[in-house]
Amino acid sequence: MPSNFSFGLPDEIALQEELDRQHRTSINDYDAFYFGPGITQFRVMPPHPDCKLWFRELLKHRIVVNDQARTKICPTMLKEPCPICERATELYNEATEDSVEAAKKLRPTRRFAVNAVIFSAPPARSELEVGKVYILELPKTVKDELLEMDRDPQAGWADITGAFAASKGDGLMGVSFRVTKSGQGLNTKYSTRPVPARTDLAVELAAVGVDINSLVLYNLDTIFKTTTYSELKELLASAENAAVGGVGKTPVPKPVAQRPIMVKSTFQAPPPPAEPALQE
Ligand SMILES: [Zn+2]
Repeated sequence: MPSNFSFGLPDEIALQEELDRQHRTSINDYDAFYFGPGITQFRVMPPHPDCKLWFRELLKHRIVVNDQARTKICPTMLKEPCPICERATELYNEATEDSVEAAKKLRPTRRFAVNAVIFSAPPARSELEVGKVYILELPKTVKDELLEMDRDPQAGWADITGAFAASKGDGLMGVSFRVTKSGQGLNTKYSTRPVPARTDLAVELAAVGVDINSLVLYNLDTIFKTTTYSELKELLASAENAAVGGVGKTPVPKPVAQRPIMVKSTFQAPPPPAEPALQE
């Protein structure tokens, strides 16, 4: 894989500068994107120069306290112990109908995060910015289909984030995809189709007024942070207490929808100030 992509601003300082430009405060903060019902057309970006893969498994817990859902990164994806997963195992082992049901709700959902440019999305996502790299969360089935094509030169694809034409100039001749999401809940379906020809991303972006060199890739190995074990344990306890004592309680007014992933911890050190890049 060539690593000298013509865009990227790969280091943390550049990323911080970009976040500053966007009036954002933390490198733990990022723009996430999820498929809405309908068709989303996107291009998966090549890996960040410090990462080997263009995707990363993402495990998230959704904990509901008094009707308010909180999403937390599961620490096991950072190779740390997780009190919520431990509780899920405990409940599963109790093996009653209720406990197994409760265990299922505590299990993390599994998605695959990729850097992506979104060309179009269903109308509900009108806040979409085309000239921006998002962390797009792919369901496993979609990731598997993309990965299969990425590894399949026989079918004429391969290297979907690709740089086939890197030697010809700035262009990245990769493959864009259209994913159609339909159905709801357990019946949600995703169908994945490649856009029929490889295209030069620089040209495609230029057509909508975006300079490919302005794109910033997220480092998928370092961007996801979680809260401490004790904080997660506390959150779990309040969810379980609310569930037990919650019958007949006045419903708490719904808070304003929070960002899907807020992984900041009050106990965590703030991100380090800009300092020389750690790369050699
Ligand atoms: Zn967990």
